[in-house]
Amino acid sequence: MLRDIDLNEVSDGKLYTAKDMARTDCHDCKGCSDCCHGMGQSIMLDPYDIYNLTMNLDMSCEDLLARYVEFGVDGGVIIPNIRMQEDTDSCGFLTADGRCSVHEFRPGICRLFPLGRYYDGEGFKYFLQVNECAKKDRTKVKIYKYLGIDDLPKYEKFVNDWHYFILDVQKKLNANPECFESANEDNIFLLNLFYMMVYNENVDFYTQFYERLELAKHKLFG
Ligand code: SF4
Ligand code: SF4
Repeated sequence: MLRDIDLNEVSDGKLYTAKDMARTDCHDCKGCSDCCHGMGQSIMLDPYDIYNLTMNLDMSCEDLLARYVEFGVDGGVIIPNIRMQEDTDSCGFLTADGRCSVHEFRPGICRLFPLGRYYDGEGFKYFLQVNECAKKDRTKVKIYKYLGIDDLPKYEKFVNDWHYFILDVQKKLNANPECFESANEDNIFLLNLFYMMVYNENVDFYTQFYERLELAKHKLFG
């Protein structure tokens, strides 16, 4: 999340909001699953992704970790990501015929692709990655339609709040690189709070997330 990118190198040079049209529509990815292969640890998962996967698959986070998900480190903070399978170097949710078996509730990064998010210090805008998607005949579509996320303003607020919270945690951990024990403790606390601790299916995700966020801010930043 601390990565610096040169927008001119990777994008069409424009920044978009969800109401804008962008050339993202790859027609249901027919015949292509390129971005489900060889992604290393780049498909990072936020708490909403884990909530969606655990609720819809009726699995715990531990179950997901047994096959589909692994832990990675981003700027000193442990963040789960989609695990590329050893034998195929592809996502474990990809079917033999190259379709996503969790399409309806796929992770936010998968949903977003080939868009990316550009954070400007307060909020974020979308940008179109021009070198990533294999389909070259993509057509224009409104970004909110392409994303297909319920209550997009609420989701975008969550994405933003999560991003800047993790950024603050990264700054805290990187300010004291010699304090391994305390960094370890913070990481375990955050993993348990946001990922491992089961979410209540009868309570709105965002309500639960913001309760946990308050707790985390209190513990880490006082
Ligand atoms: S590379 Fe583009 S067309 Fe291929 S699976 Fe990914 S988003 Fe779909
Ligand atoms: S979750 Fe679906 S879209 Fe995302 S990498 Fe896996 S198979 Fe591809």
